[in-house]
Amino acid sequence: MTTSIDQVKGFAKQQLVNSLSNKKLQLIIFPTEQCNFRCVYCYEDFEIGKMPRWLIDATKILISNKMPNLEYLSLSWFGGEPLLAKDVLFEIAEFSQSLAEKYKCKVSGDLTTNGFLLDIKTLTKLVELKQNSFQISIDGDKESHDTTRLTRNGKGSFDRIWRRLLDASSTDLDFNITLRVHITDLNHESVLSFCKRFDETLKDDARFRLFFKEISNLGGENQIVIQDLIAKKSAKELAKDLTNRYSEKSKILNSKGHYICYAGKPNSLGIRANGNINKCTVALDDDRNNIGKINPDGTLTLNNEKFSTWVKGFTTLDSWQMGCPLSYMNHNSVVGDIPIKKVS
Ligand code: SF4
Repeated sequence: MTTSIDQVKGFAKQQLVNSLSNKKLQLIIFPTEQCNFRCVYCYEDFEIGKMPRWLIDATKILISNKMPNLEYLSLSWFGGEPLLAKDVLFEIAEFSQSLAEKYKCKVSGDLTTNGFLLDIKTLTKLVELKQNSFQISIDGDKESHDTTRLTRNGKGSFDRIWRRLLDASSTDLDFNITLRVHITDLNHESVLSFCKRFDETLKDDARFRLFFKEISNLGGENQIVIQDLIAKKSAKELAKDLTNRYSEKSKILNSKGHYICYAGKPNSLGIRANGNINKCTVALDDDRNNIGKINPDGTLTLNNEKFSTWVKGFTTLDSWQMGCPLSYMNHNSVVGDIPIKKVS
């Protein structure tokens, strides 16, 4: 493999520097862990609700303590569905922006949202607060999407989300939306219909991008058998083809070097809606991921041993360990000197 002077072991040097810089901080905030959707494959248990008042205040104190030494603060809103607690989101983002001017720190933000509640009023406010980057998942066109991405009432969600996207496109607001299109071995035709729909409406809007992601076995065991019978092309192949077809519109993760997951970055922390501090946004119930807590006075109590397990990739520059520390841990019983419980 050729390694350019701007790369170290396939990682962009700038990305490595940014991930280690104490002038940069990413806070992944879960303003609520409740969701208005019940996607058939969701791994969340919805046991934790909305951030309580003490935790909103503690998060603001943490930000005000960190901001004087930061050049860049990135807020990433996660959940649950973060827009179910948009008051919490607005309050913390507004607070951060008010300090940003004082300390000359750049504050930006992104949301992982299902898009259902992203009406123009909400979008306008988020853009004002520079929380204007969105990732919205789509499981193909309506007939496929509506079998997997159901609302809490068991209804399909496609029409409402699509309306939100068209409404957003009709404004001149400054945002960018990445549509993460899930491809399974079963929804190829529907994904292609979605692409056609996209071509006819949003393709010329530079604020919209596509990210094709293959998903295996979405929808339960029975479908695995069917998929073997009818799959002409694997989900992975179609994702690759479509990424090439939409090369101008699609997000290619490895274009500037190997991907580094935020969970592996020392300057990224997740604040759960109960005050726990996590690294990974998938293994929410995994004790290895519960690395500490935020206290009411805004200080953090962290388990250094657990923390260092997540960031160990920076000592090895192993692309797997950096790209998904969780998966690496699950397949390797030892990371560095720290024994890890092996999960099958
Ligand atoms: S560690 Fe792996 S599973 Fe967790 S957020 Fe990163 S890429 Fe996703």
